[in-house]
Amino acid sequence: MLPSDFQDILACVPQAVLRIGPDLRVAWLEPDFTAKTGVALQPGDPVLEALESGRGRDALERSLRESRGHAGHVITTGLKQLRIQARPCRSDSEPGTWLLFEPSGADDEVAFAQALQEIAREVGETLDVDNVCKAAVLAVVRCAQVRRAEVYLAEDGQPLRRVAVSDLASTDSPEDSLEAHADSFEAALVTRHPQIGVQRGYGDAVGSIFAAVPLLAPHRAVGLLVLYKEQGTSFSLRELDLWSAAAGQVAVTVENARLLREAQAALRVREEFMSIASHELKTPLTPLKLILYSMERRMEQGLPVEPSTVVKAKRQVDRLAGLVNDLLDVSRLELGRLSLEPAPLELGHLVAEVVDQFRLAFARPFSLQVPRERLWVRGDRDRLEQVLVNLLENAHKYSPEGETIAVELESVAGEARLHVKDRGIGIPAQDQARLFQRFYRAGNASYRNFGGLGLGLFISHSIARLHGGSLSLTSIEGKGSTFTLGLPRMTSSDVRQLPPRVLLLDEDPTQESVAERVLGDAGFEVLTAHGGVDALRRVSHLPVDVVLLSASAPPTQLGIFLAAFAELPRARPVPIVLAGASRPAWAHPESALCSRPYRELELLGAVRSTLSLPEERLSPLERLPREALMVP
Ligand code: ADP
Repeated sequence: MLPSDFQDILACVPQAVLRIGPDLRVAWLEPDFTAKTGVALQPGDPVLEALESGRGRDALERSLRESRGHAGHVITTGLKQLRIQARPCRSDSEPGTWLLFEPSGADDEVAFAQALQEIAREVGETLDVDNVCKAAVLAVVRCAQVRRAEVYLAEDGQPLRRVAVSDLASTDSPEDSLEAHADSFEAALVTRHPQIGVQRGYGDAVGSIFAAVPLLAPHRAVGLLVLYKEQGTSFSLRELDLWSAAAGQVAVTVENARLLREAQAALRVREEFMSIASHELKTPLTPLKLILYSMERRMEQGLPVEPSTVVKAKRQVDRLAGLVNDLLDVSRLELGRLSLEPAPLELGHLVAEVVDQFRLAFARPFSLQVPRERLWVRGDRDRLEQVLVNLLENAHKYSPEGETIAVELESVAGEARLHVKDRGIGIPAQDQARLFQRFYRAGNASYRNFGGLGLGLFISHSIARLHGGSLSLTSIEGKGSTFTLGLPRMTSSDVRQLPPRVLLLDEDPTQESVAERVLGDAGFEVLTAHGGVDALRRVSHLPVDVVLLSASAPPTQLGIFLAAFAELPRARPVPIVLAGASRPAWAHPESALCSRPYRELELLGAVRSTLSLPEERLSPLERLPREALMVP
């Protein structure tokens, strides 16, 4: 009679005990059997079915059938290696056999230690990945019960590549093993844990068991150490732990080599950058120096300095300032110190204005498409202008003379999208992903043909992201590129709260202040302009919703404003309210009129109704006959 707590003691013993009957089925097993062995067996189950076929199982089966004692290694269907002892039951009890399962004692710690040392020595001596991998596979097969070892690397998102292999048996080499084990390999990389599998057709007919051990670098698995066992043996947990340590050593080398490669590449980029940057900075300095010398000579001779010379000098200074500003922006971005001053901004207006500057500066066609609807974003005007200028400058620089550059603004799903399209040299597919990195220049933009530091897109991309937006590109080399800036639109309720903006042009300060007060009190934002030139400057900087114009302003001032205003590349017509006793001869017969001296209610009525008029009933300056605008 066994004591009642016998089973509690059994749980403390590493071996797991099971008894089978003459039919080789489980007659009794200790309660912790499955927990100890990982083998799920129940009374009545055929015990041999829980084991992988192979020499170990055959030997066990023979001894069981012959009711002999036995000790040997078997591999479970869960691919664990266990040692089994079989003891036939005493003749005075029920016929059957006791089976004792225990973890395999196959680990040869000395051999492991030796393998690890060899790998460590190689790691310490070289940063060459191939050499370390070769040394690792050699050390593994030489020192342990491994028939074959391989190292695979998964570098830079590339598929696994076998870099080293060492094989004790030269026959039946599974050259195409990668396909056969793709799943286990993938699982080892993804789970970051060793995976065990069976390579059918390698070794003998039953196949060979392999372990795929991931090479773990700090944040990712960089490859696999794959070990094939002699047929009939498997991997114990202890063994897998040790092989993981060996794999860790190899991973260190792979990672160090990658870091070294990156550092070397960064150094190369830096050296290249220094030479390009100094050349770029020097390029405007040389003509600038010459211009200054020639100015000095002329002044010594008492000759006047020609304005065109000054313009040329300014252009070189602008170029220098642009380069220095780019460099400063990059360092601000790196330190996280590039801050924005966001304010409501109507993108259509900004785009039209910038495109106009380019039209004036370059003799090439620029097409512009802006929706009638206003596209408001919250943005830093100067920074967004910088992005636009960069995209347009690039489109100009990298496309042949005379080719149209198309600028389109549209609204897509809560986003304002600006496309700048050119039909220029395009960007090679392999460069596209890295184009927004700093200092990066595509392979086809040789420095000799196209100067540049490779900073503009990096800065533009960062600015777009600081606005919660994006900058992306599509391009085909040799055909052209489209850069798209996406910015979140302001919500319509936020836009509704923006005050309408009135540009006020009145030559009489008293009348001006009356109108300013009346409109200001009624919630309008009023921009007052003193004279036509000032008015022009203001409308080209901020979009206005309506212009309030004194009909009696001096024609000299008004003329400048009106003529240029009509020419402004505005995306949309801006309505005008005339203030005076009657419409001047040049005014459109339907333009709104209010009396002056201003009367509060009438003024507000005229401005409000003009603002809410449907577009076709507006009296935009665009519809004035051109000659009518040419006030002398
Ligand atoms: P930079 O033009 O000064 O080199 P950018 O950062 O503005 O610097 O552009 C980075 C690189 O992107 C350029 O060197 C060029 O290779 C490529 N690139 C930019 N815009 C275009 C474009 N419109 N067409 C072709 N290549 C372009």
